[in-house]
Amino acid sequence: MLRLPKFKHVNPSSLSEMLDILVKNCHEAQILAGGTDLLVNMKNGIYKPKIIVSLNAFSDLSYITKTPDGSIRIGAGTKLVDLLENPLIIKNVPALKKAVAAVASWHIRNMATLGGNLCLDTRCHYYNQSTVWRKTRETCRKLGGDICHALPGTKRCHAINRSDTAPILMALDAILVLKKKGHERFLPINRFYQDDGAAPNLLELNELLTEIQLPKTVGTCKTAFIKISKRKGIDFAAGNIAACLRKNNNGEFSLKIVLGAMHSAPLFLEKTEQIINESGLTEKTIEAASMTVRSELGTLTNLFNSSGYKRDLAQTLVKRALVSIMNQP
Ligand SMILES: Cc1cc2nc3c(=O)[nH]c(=O)nc-3n(C[C@H](O)[C@H](O)[C@H](O)COP(=O)(O)OP(=O)(O)OC[C@H]3O[C@@H](n4cnc5c(N)ncnc54)[C@H](O)[C@@H]3O)c2cc1C
Ligand code: SF4
Repeated sequence: MLRLPKFKHVNPSSLSEMLDILVKNCHEAQILAGGTDLLVNMKNGIYKPKIIVSLNAFSDLSYITKTPDGSIRIGAGTKLVDLLENPLIIKNVPALKKAVAAVASWHIRNMATLGGNLCLDTRCHYYNQSTVWRKTRETCRKLGGDICHALPGTKRCHAINRSDTAPILMALDAILVLKKKGHERFLPINRFYQDDGAAPNLLELNELLTEIQLPKTVGTCKTAFIKISKRKGIDFAAGNIAACLRKNNNGEFSLKIVLGAMHSAPLFLEKTEQIINESGLTEKTIEAASMTVRSELGTLTNLFNSSGYKRDLAQTLVKRALVSIMNQP
């Protein structure tokens, strides 16, 4: 049976107390939100924090509001289940609701937070295993070694970002608010992820994601989200896709389309975007756009599914997402 190692559990009663604790214990502490990924990784001996600092004893990070200019602000500690039931999300960003509903199961969504889903560690068949299992192989790059079992001979880790909410928030151009004691920064989510499974995002040591800001145009966009996984009930994505079509002030349309769960970071499909942005959204351009996807995927591993299957899946996902947007009134 997998057991949690010994650790100190700290429950700060306010955001400022939490930031204080994080700065004082920066090399020993790890943030606990819903714990649905963190605790599993601790049981597997992947993370060994001496202190876990919970954001569950205060409500400062749990909210969904709309500013007078139309921007929607979501506290990073908001439970996924609360997003699913929120009228602002249902009305303005149906694709975000769909992405949230695709995460794991009801039980997990009752615990899990949006911030935790965005800071989710990358996953690999050779990494998300118990200590005993991993000991049978040489330590790989993600845990400090210098080899990769998934793609031998490569110079970096290819573990996969399997977050279901990251692609839609990228397509929507969301902004992340990141806080440390005495310091706050605003980072477009489009710059947050890195295509390196061992260093998958730009979160600094003990920096806290506090808020996700959706742009004021969010309610006027047409959006789509589709996830394909082996099991419907509870499973990580084999591939997911999110798209957002927005009208700018000149009446021109611009498309953002992001493919998730195939690389270490969700991937903008720029050639697809270019075809649609230049030639409009028609059956013909959708066909042309979906044909270009294969050439945009770059290196793919056989992690979780074969690379050939992933290429086929990416093409299908693009087609379905674009058809879904085209058919919206
Ligand atoms: C059986 C199972 C199935 C799953 N299926 C899916 C799935 O289909 N799709 C999917 O996307 N995920 C899935 N997950 C993973 C996980 O449950 C979700 O991603 C969940 O949203 C994580 O949120 P959490 O609040 O529980 O994060 P936690 O586990 O608390 O934290 C995750 C990581 O983020 C860090 N963190 C959390 N909050 C913050 C913050 N505010 N600022 C900075 N760092 C932070 C933590 O330190 C930790 O490193 C699954 C997990 C399990 C166990
Ligand atoms: S992709 Fe390679 S380096 Fe990364 S976790 Fe998997 S085996 Fe390790």
